[in-house]
Amino acid sequence: MSNQHTQKTYTLNTGAKIPAIGLGTWQSKPNEVREAVKNALLAGYRHIDTALAYGNEAEVGAGIKDSGVPRDQIWLTTKLDNTWHHRVTDGINSSLKDLDTDYVDLYLMHWPSSTDPEDKSKHLPDWDFIKTWQEMQKLPATGKVRNIGVSNFGIKNLEKLLNDPSCKIVPAVNQIELHPNNPSPKLVAYNTSKGIHSTGYSCLGSTNSPLYKDPTLLKLAEKKGKTPQQVLLVWGIQKGWSVIPKSVSKARIEGNFDINGWELTADEVNQLDNLKDRFKVCGDSWLPIKVFFGDDE
Ligand code: NDP
Repeated sequence: MSNQHTQKTYTLNTGAKIPAIGLGTWQSKPNEVREAVKNALLAGYRHIDTALAYGNEAEVGAGIKDSGVPRDQIWLTTKLDNTWHHRVTDGINSSLKDLDTDYVDLYLMHWPSSTDPEDKSKHLPDWDFIKTWQEMQKLPATGKVRNIGVSNFGIKNLEKLLNDPSCKIVPAVNQIELHPNNPSPKLVAYNTSKGIHSTGYSCLGSTNSPLYKDPTLLKLAEKKGKTPQQVLLVWGIQKGWSVIPKSVSKARIEGNFDINGWELTADEVNQLDNLKDRFKVCGDSWLPIKVFFGDDE
């Protein structure tokens, strides 16, 4: 049982193995994220999550180099930005250049919105995520990308994608918001039924997480002698998705990875499954189109 959570991997529909826990880097400030990535890799993390939109890929790449951990031992995920949907090759080339690497392990379409780069309040008139996926499907053959996937896809958009005749590659991953106040059981089950692995973002509830005031979580953490964050991460891993907690603090990066040697019982998992409060960190109000259509849709 000793390294059961941090050494755990999930096998994707491509056969690749994604580590169950990785470091998130959204909102990690310049000059912080390089150190955070290095500290995470030195603590044992082997999975880093970034995105072109985070504006920090160069620092993430530098942090990887600083750590001395060989590139082939690290799972590196980045994402195609919304304003780059019609120039997928440029998008991946930009990410690889900034990350200073030859390939990424996972390339995600960040959102199902092909936003006009000239005016972000508009959607491109002659493009949509189906076309973006057609372009992304060409990437594995180039060697620049080992696996392709999507993010922020609800059931409705996933069905549209999977049912389109041009869809030849089922996404390996759907990265979605997952924490006990946004558990999305139908969407996770849908992903699983299609052979799509779920990765949970904002798995701690993000910045100023309301979850840290939840009495059920606090009581459970106290009973287990663990932090609320450790309990949330183990809950996610036991539920079957990978988790990518973000931190720029060395102590918290290490604490979030110190999760081996214990489990939540079925009853404890159930308690977290049944929290009543609901909140969502990422909505679609800032996108030119609606991408969420109610719970799990
Ligand atoms: P998280 O749920 O990972 O929470 C991060 C926040 O929790 C930060 O404020 C961090 O502060 C704090 N924190 C981390 N560990 C601890 C701890 N042990 N004790 C107390 N506070 C802690 O939020 P994110 O929204 O960042 O999600 C995680 C990652 O998921 C992102 O960084 C990004 O990589 C990805 N993501 C993807 C999205 C998508 O559209 N695909 C959308 C949102 C996120 P501090 O740094 O100071 O420790």
